[in-house]
Amino acid sequence: MRDAADPVAPGRAQPPAAALADVRREIEAACRKVSRDPSSVTLVAITKTFAADVIEPAIAAGQRVFGENRVQEAKAKWPLLKERHSDLELHLVGPLQSNKAKEAVALFDCIHTVDRPSICEALAKEIAKQGRRPRLLVQVNTGAEPQKAGVLPEAADDFVRRCRTEHGLAIEGLMCIPPLEDPPAPHFALLAKIAARNGLALLSMGMSADFALAIEFGATHVRVGTAIFGARGKEA
Ligand SMILES: *Cc1c(COP(=O)(O)O)cnc(C)c1O
Repeated sequence: MRDAADPVAPGRAQPPAAALADVRREIEAACRKVSRDPSSVTLVAITKTFAADVIEPAIAAGQRVFGENRVQEAKAKWPLLKERHSDLELHLVGPLQSNKAKEAVALFDCIHTVDRPSICEALAKEIAKQGRRPRLLVQVNTGAEPQKAGVLPEAADDFVRRCRTEHGLAIEGLMCIPPLEDPPAPHFALLAKIAARNGLALLSMGMSADFALAIEFGATHVRVGTAIFGARGKEA
């Protein structure tokens, strides 16, 4: 499918509507393979670096759940899109700083990257103040990479417990970004195991290169950018 309302941008193999259809088909195939209901997997379309003119065709194609990795960038483009389309859901998948908690709680419907007590404190304060309750996931640094955000796997149980007992936060799931150079399967398995023993239902794992595999390991949220919108000009 290719028309004027769904333009092909440079660096993109096909228009977002066609790419979305491909990704949805792949999600359904992965679900079939492990006897899961496709409705148990939410496709979060990651729009970082892409402007509204690229996002609109995806919305026109029926996509409703989107993700950004920076609060400032999201704030610049999503209020208008949300105004135009009242049923959109916006997820934060990048690191959150305490001083952005107010904006994050106001703008996002789900935050995947809770990973330290100062963030918990700031989020709890804003949730109480604004009366808005974004769904919350804890990011786990499954590869223990020094430069990467997230709690270490061995600290995850205690952190989730503290989120609940000390900060009153209703943590619903876990998120991970496996190291680029590692096979992702062991990371997906580890995240699923930590979630299960903490009674957490949501698993945010799997990106363009590995979302089908993540679904086999139980992903409930796959975060897909490149496979839908094409290569990003510059990483945000
Ligand atoms: C950019 C990003 C994605 C999407 O990655 P693709 O490989 O483009 O699908 C997923 N998760 C996070 C946290 C990201 O920052």
